[in-house]
Amino acid sequence: MLKLQDVSVKYGSFTAVHNVNLEVQPGQIVVLLGANGAGKSTLFKTISGLNKASSGGIQFEGEPLNKRSPDKIVQSGIVQCAEGRKLFPSMTVHENLKMGAYVHRKHKKGIKESIMHVYELFPILEEKQDDMAGSLSGGQQQMLAIGRALMAKPKLMLLDEPSIGLAPLIVEQMFEVIKKINREGTTILLAEQNANAALKIADRGYVFENGAVVLEGTSEELFANDEIKKAYIGA
Ligand code: ATP
Repeated sequence: MLKLQDVSVKYGSFTAVHNVNLEVQPGQIVVLLGANGAGKSTLFKTISGLNKASSGGIQFEGEPLNKRSPDKIVQSGIVQCAEGRKLFPSMTVHENLKMGAYVHRKHKKGIKESIMHVYELFPILEEKQDDMAGSLSGGQQQMLAIGRALMAKPKLMLLDEPSIGLAPLIVEQMFEVIKKINREGTTILLAEQNANAALKIADRGYVFENGAVVLEGTSEELFANDEIKKAYIGA
C-alpha cells in the first residue's frame, strides 16, 4: 500500500532521514520506534507532503506521491494525526470534527454518520461535543485528534506519538481504540516511543536511530530482541 524506497530528507545541509526503505501492507498496523529526534516526525511529514524528500521514492497504492501536494495526498487517502494534537482550541469538539471532514464537505449525510462513528469510538467526545477543544484533558484532546483524522475517512492513518504525556490507563484505552479502528479497515502507521504498548497491537515494526532504520521485523521478533528490550521496554 505504502512503499518508501531509499528516502532521504534534509533540512539545509543536515540529513534528518537517511535512505529509508519501508513498506506498509493494506490492513496492517506498522510501528516506527525511536527516541526523540530519531526522525519519525520528519518521515511522517514527508509522506504527507509537508516536507520534500531530497532523494528516493514514495509510492501509495502503486502511484508516486513525491510530486503531490499535501491536500492531494489527503484526497488520495493518507491522513496524518499530528503529535501535539494541533486542534482548533477555541472551536467546539463538534466543530473540530466537522473540520476534519473538509475533503468530504459536499456529503452532509456522510459527515453526520462519521461524527456518530467517532462518538461511538470515543463516547466522552459526545458528552463534551459543545465544549471548547482547548478545555479538554490531554487524553481527550488526543481522542479528538484521532477522531478528527478519521473524519477524512483515511485508507492510511499516520499516527504520531498518540500516547505522549498520557496516564497509563488512558494509553491502554487509546491503543484499544487504535486496534479497533484498524479492524474496521484503516491501515495504520504509528510512530511511538512506548514500544511495549505499540508492539502489542502492531504487525511489524521499524527501529529508527539518527534518521536511519537500524532494525526491522515482525512485532514478535522485535519484542523478543534484547536490544529493543533494553532500549525501549525496560526489561
Ligand atoms: P520527536 O518525537 O522529538 O518529534 P522525531 O523522531 O520525530 O522526534 P524529528 O522531529 O523528525 O524526530 O527530528 C529529526 C531530526 O531533524 C532532529 O535532529 C531534529 O532536530 C531535526 N529537525 C527536525 N525539524 C527540523 C527543522 N525544521 N529544521 C532543522 N532541523 C530539524
